[in-house]
Amino acid sequence: MVSTLTRYNAEFECINDSCKTRYDLNEIVYECRKCGSLLQVSHNLEALKTVSGEEWKQTFDSRFRSVKFPNSSGIWNKREWVLPHIEDKNIVTSGEGLSHLFHSERLTADLGLGSFFVKQCGISHTGSFKDLGMTVLLSQVKHMIASGVPIKAVACASSGDTSAALASYAAKAGIPAIIFLPAGKVSQAQLIQPVSNGAKVIALDTDFDGCMQIVKEVTREAGIYLANSMNSLRIEGQKTISVEITQQLEWKVPDWIVIPGGNLGNVSALGAGFEMMFSLGLIDKLPRIVLAQAEHANPLYLSYLKNFESFEPVSAKTTLASAIQIGNPVSIRKAIKTLKKFDGVVEQASEAELSDAAAKADLYGLYNDPHTGVALAALNKLLKRGTIAKGENVVVISTAHGLKFTEFKLQFHAGEIAGTDSKMVNSIHRIEPKAEKVIDLIRNLLHL
Ligand SMILES: *Cc1c(COP(=O)(O)O)cnc(C)c1O
Ligand SMILES: [Zn+2]
Repeated sequence: MVSTLTRYNAEFECINDSCKTRYDLNEIVYECRKCGSLLQVSHNLEALKTVSGEEWKQTFDSRFRSVKFPNSSGIWNKREWVLPHIEDKNIVTSGEGLSHLFHSERLTADLGLGSFFVKQCGISHTGSFKDLGMTVLLSQVKHMIASGVPIKAVACASSGDTSAALASYAAKAGIPAIIFLPAGKVSQAQLIQPVSNGAKVIALDTDFDGCMQIVKEVTREAGIYLANSMNSLRIEGQKTISVEITQQLEWKVPDWIVIPGGNLGNVSALGAGFEMMFSLGLIDKLPRIVLAQAEHANPLYLSYLKNFESFEPVSAKTTLASAIQIGNPVSIRKAIKTLKKFDGVVEQASEAELSDAAAKADLYGLYNDPHTGVALAALNKLLKRGTIAKGENVVVISTAHGLKFTEFKLQFHAGEIAGTDSKMVNSIHRIEPKAEKVIDLIRNLLHL
């Protein structure tokens, strides 16, 4: 069994292979001071390897769905792999992770897959996978404040879900939060979450990329800590998605994972989780990864078509998948590295394709947000093209709860999204409250 945390150790490390400068996790640093590259959290793998792969699996299995703090969190039940130095008293958790792997035999058969699961990362405290990273970031900030680092507030730019998660976890920790949102570009449900949690909410007349520029400048001011995913602490929490999926599949690795991407932190996290399991002997193969983008915000797709030889930011157009309406992704280099390592594929989905794919899977009992729709549409296209073969084993990452995107659902079922399959529009039948009329209607509807 794993007993002491002290021999495990993690630091920031520059991702540029010819630099690799290291920084203490208590330093306020988001990009390498020498070369400007992003940082990653680097673990002492030698110490982690003193425990065998089999022992890690047993340890994680013994903690899964524990009722006891902190193993009651799907992040902190893997704390040695996340941030080993955080003491219990500084852990800021709302029981994130531990989400269901949705399975439908009918849907799997209809897709012609060997196995098919939807990892429900949106079924979480604030309704998106952003909770998985935010618990780690706020715990580290609480640890830093306790160690005397003068942090006055945390801040982020957000396309909606990051701000909800930051506001909630900051409120839980008692630390002020400042949120920058593109005015008029996030859903009502997403907007009201940080408002309710008491964050200072600032709407800017720009897009997400514009908000990102502002928050980068603002957080250069002393005492305001940056909570966007360019801060690699968040990746440490999100990378547990890979561990949890594999654990739920009884430590078998699927052939493919399909994930929607915008700023591209999450796909890097997905890769990091699998690489860690591979290095530490828990698994002996890697899955292939599909990164799915909205056609209206597809800079990585365009780069993929050129074998990643060049990358040009785009100006993202309005998309129903508003959380991935990003033209200049911060984690582009990390994402390309990951996709190369995982024999990755990038696919895109139009507004009609993402809407139809979300609605179709809803008919098997899911309730998909538009971003999961992007991933499902990519899966459909790759199956049709034969890139993903019949009989293969696939997991789609669902990134948010459908309840955050009521406008999207209403629009679809009002037949208001251009080019969608009108056969799936489900209308409400309003009639007189007379039993015989109701029975007639039901006979009609069920073709009895
Ligand atoms: C943040 C977010 C994404 C994109 O994740 P990145 O790490 O920015 O690629 C996808 N879907 C939803 C619902 C999100 O909130
Ligand atoms: Zn560097």
